Amino acid sequence: MSRTLLRGARVVTMAPNRPDAERIDILVDDDRIADLGEHLDSPDADTVDLSGRVVIPGLVNAHLHTWQAGLRCVGADWTLPEYLTHVHGTVARHYNPEDMRIGTLAGALNQIDCGTTTLGDWCHNTRTPEHTDAAVDGLLRSGIRAVFLHGTAYVTPDSPHPLPEVDRLLDGPVRTHDLLTLGMAIRGPQYSTPEVAVADFRAADERGVVVSVHQSGGEPAAGWDAVREAGLLGPHTNITHGAGMTDEWIKTLVGAGVTFTATPENELGQGHAVPVTGRLLRLGAAPSLGTDVDTVVPGDILTAARIALAHQRGLDHEHHRQSTGMVSRTPSITGKQALSWATVEGARALGLADRVGRIEPGMQADLVAIDARALNLWPAHDPIAAALHAGVGNIEAVMIAGQWRKRDHHLVDVDLDDVKDRLRGSGERLLRHLDTSARI
Ligand SMILES: [Zn+2]
Repeated sequence: MSRTLLRGARVVTMAPNRPDAERIDILVDDDRIADLGEHLDSPDADTVDLSGRVVIPGLVNAHLHTWQAGLRCVGADWTLPEYLTHVHGTVARHYNPEDMRIGTLAGALNQIDCGTTTLGDWCHNTRTPEHTDAAVDGLLRSGIRAVFLHGTAYVTPDSPHPLPEVDRLLDGPVRTHDLLTLGMAIRGPQYSTPEVAVADFRAADERGVVVSVHQSGGEPAAGWDAVREAGLLGPHTNITHGAGMTDEWIKTLVGAGVTFTATPENELGQGHAVPVTGRLLRLGAAPSLGTDVDTVVPGDILTAARIALAHQRGLDHEHHRQSTGMVSRTPSITGKQALSWATVEGARALGLADRVGRIEPGMQADLVAIDARALNLWPAHDPIAAALHAGVGNIEAVMIAGQWRKRDHHLVDVDLDDVKDRLRGSGERLLRHLDTSARI
């Protein structure tokens, strides 16, 4: 059993009833946080001096199609219809299991590099069981904590989710790996018939797993009524985007405990519609955050938090100006709230709030050390702002379940050159199938 004592950092625990930031030590025992406090003593522990750093809970990226890492940057100017045509309509069909493995491995490693310790991997290019297993293997090799949200490649609206695959995964790798849990990424009411939507929600409910759906532009489909009437909405239900839903529907869903994941950069840039952030906050709820598509936007969840924060503050300022003729004197949202979206709320959305998202004794030791001595953050008067303003280069160290996955600004135990070589080979082969003149 290994013990690690982290000393000297300013710690943002995100725990209720604690200061926003405090200079305390953190004692890690095996995979858990054992103790917090000033001047902790543990002679047998590996003591690490983190003076000048800010330590925050491991970040949570609640929605990423990790398999797309080999396609990075190709779609930075794509609208949503262009993305759907080029990726799902064309390139995704040419993925083989090795493309899934290296894309997922590289995508997950990048998440760790960016400070993400828990990933909602919304995997919907599971063309064969071999594709699925390769994606799971990529996650496991990376060392990240993940909820593998098992999805499907294109199927007709009357095709139910393939439950034998879900059960095979539950009986296989998910049962034997502590860092992996399973969820179902179903097509949901927007992309399937009401009967199929109800059956898929019920299947997830019977298995006790998180069920996640896309809900993008347009009115909510009839299937939402059917799912609600069947009593299948609850805290295990996660909606990504939530754009296009009426205020009445949002209220109903929040009332049922449903969680929302906003992916602000591509929602705004690609035409999904306006992030749901403000509509949730007005109901006393809050979003979790995702980065969705490496093909289109970067995977850094702190950037997503800043964009969500700035976008909603902008809307709120404009609303205040229009209603009073004056600039607002107080902020509508704090930086701490934005950091909670990428920690506490992400953990809640993925069904892991009892394990991650806060630094407290008994929680999993998922921690991020931010080097606030760097020129772009120093003198970092406010630790929460320093965390929120950190770039990837400021993420000095990342611990997942008590294991260092990044130290001294470098990923641990990874042959990154090999990963990058294989990712480039995969991406170049796949993009030979891209035809940007294809009809949308
Ligand atoms: Zn998505």
